[in-house]
Amino acid sequence: MITRITSRTKSTGDTTTLVADDRPTELDSAPHDPDSMTAWMAEGNCRLYPPATFFPSDGVGVDRARKICRDCPVQERCLEYALEERIDHGVWGGCSERERRRILKRRRTEIVGSA
Ligand code: SF4
Repeated sequence: MITRITSRTKSTGDTTTLVADDRPTELDSAPHDPDSMTAWMAEGNCRLYPPATFFPSDGVGVDRARKICRDCPVQERCLEYALEERIDHGVWGGCSERERRRILKRRRTEIVGSA
């Protein structure tokens, strides 16, 4: 199972491991709580890759991570989670930090525009 902890989230009651870069880590023996808020993470394609893959240092690395996310079955949930939790680092839901900032800015503008 996969458990992801970010600086903004707490353990969901599962056995957890905090990795240095806050990315998911495979925990074969940990119990899985399918009702947890982050249960979707167990289905993410990133569970098959080293965590550092999703914390690239250049555009090539971002593209590599995006390709992994592209056919991920939980991509939309992952992106919404990162947006809601204001996760600043890494590629989540196929979007870089910069792309997530743009999405949040656009959403704020839409809300203000519709008020
Ligand atoms: S969208 Fe990307 S970062 Fe999110 S769970 Fe899927 S593979 Fe992992």
